[in-house]
Amino acid sequence: MGSDLKGIKTIRDFELKDKIVFLRLDLNVPLEAGKITDETRITASLPTIKYALEKGAKLVLASHLGRPKAAGDKKYSMEPVADRLSELLGKEVILVEEPKSDAVKALVKGAAKNQIVLLENLRYEPGETENSEDFAQAMASYTDIYINDAFGASHRAHASIDALPRLLKNKGIGFLIEKEIQMLNQLLENPKRPYLAILGGAKVSDKIDVILKLMDVVDGFVIGGAMAYTFLKAQGLPVGKSLVEADKISFAKDMIRRVEARDKTLLLPVDHVVTTDIASRKVMTTSCPAIEENFMGVVIGPKTISQYSAAIRGAKTIFWNGPMGIFETPEYAEGTFAIAKALSENTGLKIVGGGDSAAAAEASGFADKMTHISTGGGASLEYLQGLRLPGIEALKPPKISGL
Ligand code: AMP
Repeated sequence: MGSDLKGIKTIRDFELKDKIVFLRLDLNVPLEAGKITDETRITASLPTIKYALEKGAKLVLASHLGRPKAAGDKKYSMEPVADRLSELLGKEVILVEEPKSDAVKALVKGAAKNQIVLLENLRYEPGETENSEDFAQAMASYTDIYINDAFGASHRAHASIDALPRLLKNKGIGFLIEKEIQMLNQLLENPKRPYLAILGGAKVSDKIDVILKLMDVVDGFVIGGAMAYTFLKAQGLPVGKSLVEADKISFAKDMIRRVEARDKTLLLPVDHVVTTDIASRKVMTTSCPAIEENFMGVVIGPKTISQYSAAIRGAKTIFWNGPMGIFETPEYAEGTFAIAKALSENTGLKIVGGGDSAAAAEASGFADKMTHISTGGGASLEYLQGLRLPGIEALKPPKISGL
C-alpha cells in the first residue's frame, strides 16, 4: 500500500489571508540553452499558486532545478522559470538568491499585490539534498503555512520536502499532489480488470522493483522499448546489436516463468523496426522476433503494434511507463505513437507514468486523451511499488506516544 492521505490537511483547510505560505513546487523543467522545452510542470502548479493568491496569501515559491554541481551554477538558475511564471500569472516574480537569509521574510512581507517571491534553485544549497536541519530551520523561520505540491520531488527526503515540514505544525498538500495520489490510488485499490501494464524504455534494471510489485496486481504485461530485447534474449532469441542488459537476463527468465505459472499474459515484440546505425535513421522491418547480426531494434514493428493495440482495446485499466522505442527520433517514433493512439481509443482508466512516458504521450499528440499523466516519473513508480513518499509522510500529524 502506498501513502494514503488520511490525517493530511490540504491547502483548502487553512485561512491563508496575509499568511506567509511556503509553496514547495516541482518546477524542475527541462531546459535547452536557457529555454524551457516542456512547461508541463509549471502549468500543473498554477492551480495551487492561483488559489493561494486569490485567498490573499503572501507566497514564497520554491523548487529545485536539475542537479547543479556547484552553488550558483548559472545553467540551473530558476531565472527562465521566474520569467515564465511572471508571464503566466501576470505578476512580477522576485527571484531571491539567498533562501537562508532574513531578507526573505522582509521581501515577502513587503511584496506588493502584483509581486511574488521565488527562491533560487534549492539545490544551490548543499543542505537541501542533505536534508539539513539548519537549512530547514532557516526556511521555517519565515513560514506560517507549508504546502507541498511537488509530487515529482516527494520521493526524496530533502530539506524542503522532509525536514522543513517536520518542523512545522501548519502544513498540507496542494491540488496537484492531491490529484496525483487520488489517480495512482485507483491503480492500487481494486482496479477494474483486465489491468494491463505497458512497460518500455531503456532499462529493465530501472524498473525491476515496479515489475515485481505489478506482478501481484496486473493481469498482463506488454513489453516494448530496449527492455524487450533483454526478455527476447532470455527466450534464447538472437537480438543482433540491440541494447541488452546481460546481467538482467536471469531476472527476465524468472519473470517469464512466474508470469506463466500465474496464468497472466506477457506480450513481447513479434517484429521490429531495425537499423544498422542509429545515426543513419535508415530503417528496415523484420518479419519475426529474431534480429540478425549487425542490426539493432529501435522500436516495435507493425505486427507488434496490432497485437499490442488489441490487448489495449481489451483492457479496463492501463498503466503505461516507458516508450516502445527511440521516440525522440521521428523515423523511430511510430511504434510508440501507435500505442499512445491505441490508449487514446480505450475508454477505461489510463494512467501514464511521468518522465519519458509523459514526453512520449505529449509528442504523440494524444496526451489529452489519457486519464492522467503523472508529473513525477520516479515518484509515481515508487508510489506504485507501495513505498511511502517522504514528502507525504512528513505532513502527517505526529503520533502521540504513550496513548
Ligand atoms: P526510460 O527512461 O527507461 O523510460 O527510457 C526512455 C528512453 O529509452 C528513451 O530516451 C528512449 O529513446 C530509449 N529507448 C527506448 N527504446 C530504445 C531502443 N530500442 N534502443 C535504445 N534506446 C531506446
